[in-house]
Amino acid sequence: MCAGKSVSVEQSTGMGLSTHFTNQTLMKRVLITGGAGFLGSHLCDRFIKEGYHVIAMDNLITGDIRNIEHLFHLPNFEFYHHDVSKFIHVPGQLDYILHFASPASPIDYLKIPIQTLKVGSLGIHNCLGLARVKNARVLIASTSEVYGDPTVHPQNEEYWGNVNPVGPRGVYDEAKRFQEAMTMAYHTYHGLETRIVRIFNTYGPRMRLNDGRVLPAFIGQALRGEDLTVFGDGSQTRSFCYVDDLVEGIYRLLLSDYAYPVNIGNPSEITIKEFGEEIIKLTGTSQRLIFKDLPKDDPKQRQPDITKAKAILGWEPKVSRAEGLRITYDYFKSLPEEELYRAAYHREFVKK
Ligand code: UDP
Repeated sequence: MCAGKSVSVEQSTGMGLSTHFTNQTLMKRVLITGGAGFLGSHLCDRFIKEGYHVIAMDNLITGDIRNIEHLFHLPNFEFYHHDVSKFIHVPGQLDYILHFASPASPIDYLKIPIQTLKVGSLGIHNCLGLARVKNARVLIASTSEVYGDPTVHPQNEEYWGNVNPVGPRGVYDEAKRFQEAMTMAYHTYHGLETRIVRIFNTYGPRMRLNDGRVLPAFIGQALRGEDLTVFGDGSQTRSFCYVDDLVEGIYRLLLSDYAYPVNIGNPSEITIKEFGEEIIKLTGTSQRLIFKDLPKDDPKQRQPDITKAKAILGWEPKVSRAEGLRITYDYFKSLPEEELYRAAYHREFVKK
């Protein structure tokens, strides 16, 4: 789909794609906060591909400018180096605002808990305020973490969750829960067009090797010739979704007319121990799994119920874990060696 009308100039996006540009004023304009992050940058690519004018905003605390460098030459791409928790202003029309700014890995939000709370509260408030002024539709990145350590399995959108507000994950979980409440209030009180996506574990190229999440941790360890650190006995489960599938679900949700939360994730569930074994097989490493203490409040199970996404958006994941892991492994292998060593991290301080 092309957001603008037809076209006079053809330009290469640098992604092997060809995008037709029209009169700039006819182009739909989207603001993506956290645009230099893992998910944000993939969203930038997708909206560029669809013919939008994309404004990426990021304070680059956990985002990386290299994720969007390939877009800088485009006339329909802009980058604002700015913290969305402070007042935001974007000149001109805006059709959509996607709020994806936030630290998203447990190690990050433990390191910067206050910023995590601020971006989920002050940050969304600024986005919603801007959306009212611009009459724009807002989509927020919520998370499976709103379900906490779930007692309902798989998790459907009607489940209210089991979150410890004062535990180490509380800063992220409660910020996201507040963000949902705030977004819903703007929808019901101000009649603003809003969308809420609850994102389950997602992986793919551009994850940071040192972000502490299990996939980059395991692949980084395999590439450095270290043993793979499984936390706890590895019986806890996760369900991993490839980033392209996630982006497709988000795109469909944005264009839908559904204002309540929708889970987007891949229901294929696996224990962390089995996942470690898959990474050992994939990378061919001769290292083994070693077991470390389980971090406090680590959810025991996670699997999205995607009945709603299927029914409302006609969406379901297409990329198998085998295929997605292969692409992601190729990406990590292509990084310069110093990245691998810069990436070593220790998460012992989050032990119980
Ligand atoms: N995990 C692990 N080893 C690591 C990093 C993470 O066993 O080196 C576990 C972690 O305890 C959790 C799961 O893998 O049970 C997924 O962790 P991640 O940080 O990727 O995201 P979460 O789903 O917990 O937010």
